[in-house]
Amino acid sequence: MTRTPTTSVDLQRLLDQRGNPDQPRFGAGAEIVCDGLVKIYKVADLEVVALQGLDLLVEPGELIAIVGASGSGKSTLLNILAGLDVPSAGRALVAGHDLLSMKERERTAYRRGVIGFVRQQTASNLLPYLSARENVELPMSLAGVRAGARRSRAEELLEQVGLARRAGHRPDRLSGGEQQRVAIAVALATGPRVLLADEPTGELDSVTAGEIFGLMRRASELYHVTVVIVTHDPQVADHVDRTVAIRDGRTASETLRRVEAGDDGEHRIISEEYAMLDRAGRLQLPREHIEALHLERRVRLLLEPTHVGVWPDGSDGPMPAPPSVPDEEDDA
Ligand code: ADP
Ligand code: MG
Repeated sequence: MTRTPTTSVDLQRLLDQRGNPDQPRFGAGAEIVCDGLVKIYKVADLEVVALQGLDLLVEPGELIAIVGASGSGKSTLLNILAGLDVPSAGRALVAGHDLLSMKERERTAYRRGVIGFVRQQTASNLLPYLSARENVELPMSLAGVRAGARRSRAEELLEQVGLARRAGHRPDRLSGGEQQRVAIAVALATGPRVLLADEPTGELDSVTAGEIFGLMRRASELYHVTVVIVTHDPQVADHVDRTVAIRDGRTASETLRRVEAGDDGEHRIISEEYAMLDRAGRLQLPREHIEALHLERRVRLLLEPTHVGVWPDGSDGPMPAPPSVPDEEDDA
């Protein structure tokens, strides 16, 4: 289709008004940059496209959640960010490391030093024959940290996750929630820049899950670590700054959360949902919007001074407007 969208405003005037066109490189300054990320799994003769051009930026120190239906690509994304799996195409940068071009030696150092990882299966995060303290010390041993420093760091971390008094217990003497607390301490042991958690509360009741989310928030504040939590627990939205929804291997929408003081002095939480616009200009409309207006196949777009209107094909409006339409006219 070569026809330009209909417009009721002077397009050139809007273009002239925009700011400096020299935009910085996509994702400059971000701790995590995913740009058109693709992951294809080949199983026998079949190809499964787990990620199909996923875009995501996470700022240093940010705490975000990734939500989405089972099979939408959440674990695939997290495994790539953790350096456990290699993308098929696109760009992925974490703390300055290029995950597509990284060689094996750098990848190992990256997994041990840059990333902390917490899994869903509480038992799989910890070695069963080591105490909580020994589990926290283990990644530091691999990184060559001296015994004295290991010991004091392990104690500090177990204190921070509220388990100082159970440091000598093995995992089987700890509850599921306690095991995940230790797992967070293990993940933070080498001072990673990024903490990744794949369904960390999947085996926990909702009260304990809330405590684990709260702990991850504290960790992000205390250790200035960037945190990405994959979950399908909706209560995570109360604990993070931003919730990114993945659909079919792509980021579909984002919900931002902020606290606002009302006139009565009460603080309330405001959540606002945004659709994602990719760099090619593609936008995914929410299913409910599509169904409510019976949108299908193609739509008409109308550029207004402050927004873009989307109209069903074949509807009466909007007709291509004459250039003299005043700016104040609004169809919202
Ligand atoms: P989620 O974590 O959101 O449930 P996944 O990332 O695990 O989703 O899976 C995304 C898609 O990729 C699914 O269709 C899944 O079957 C497929 N997939 C994931 N891992 C593999 C693999 N190792 N081999 C083949 N297909 C896979
Ligand atoms: Mg998963």
